[in-house]
Amino acid sequence: MTPIREITVETGRTQIIDITSPVRRIIADSGIREGICVVFSKHTTAGITINENADPDVKTDMLAGLDRAFPERDDYLHAEGNSHAHLRTSCVGPSATVIVSGGEPVLGTWQGIFLCEFDGPRTRRVLVKVVEG
Ligand code: ZN
Repeated sequence: MTPIREITVETGRTQIIDITSPVRRIIADSGIREGICVVFSKHTTAGITINENADPDVKTDMLAGLDRAFPERDDYLHAEGNSHAHLRTSCVGPSATVIVSGGEPVLGTWQGIFLCEFDGPRTRRVLVKVVEG
């Protein structure tokens, strides 16, 4: 049984941050060649997604699209004032699962694993669990 590992990420106000490299290192350190890797955020205003890592404009467009879909408004009930960030987080989801094969995450040529910050700046902790199978 491998331990749960953690990636610490310092974020900006709203930001999509590529965490593929530290996830790859955790998979390599686990020594597991074939299995599953779960990447999970315990946060309610930051999510995890897999999307394009080649053109940085994709990240900008994703943030702009989520901003249009879930804009900051002053008529939400939640008193903390960050309901737009909660909505965006639920849309993106809290986790990603990748297949591990040959000691590597199986990702498409243009895919990366990203932490999506919607209410920063904050220190975010992402949990990573690699399971053999
Ligand atoms: Zn809140």
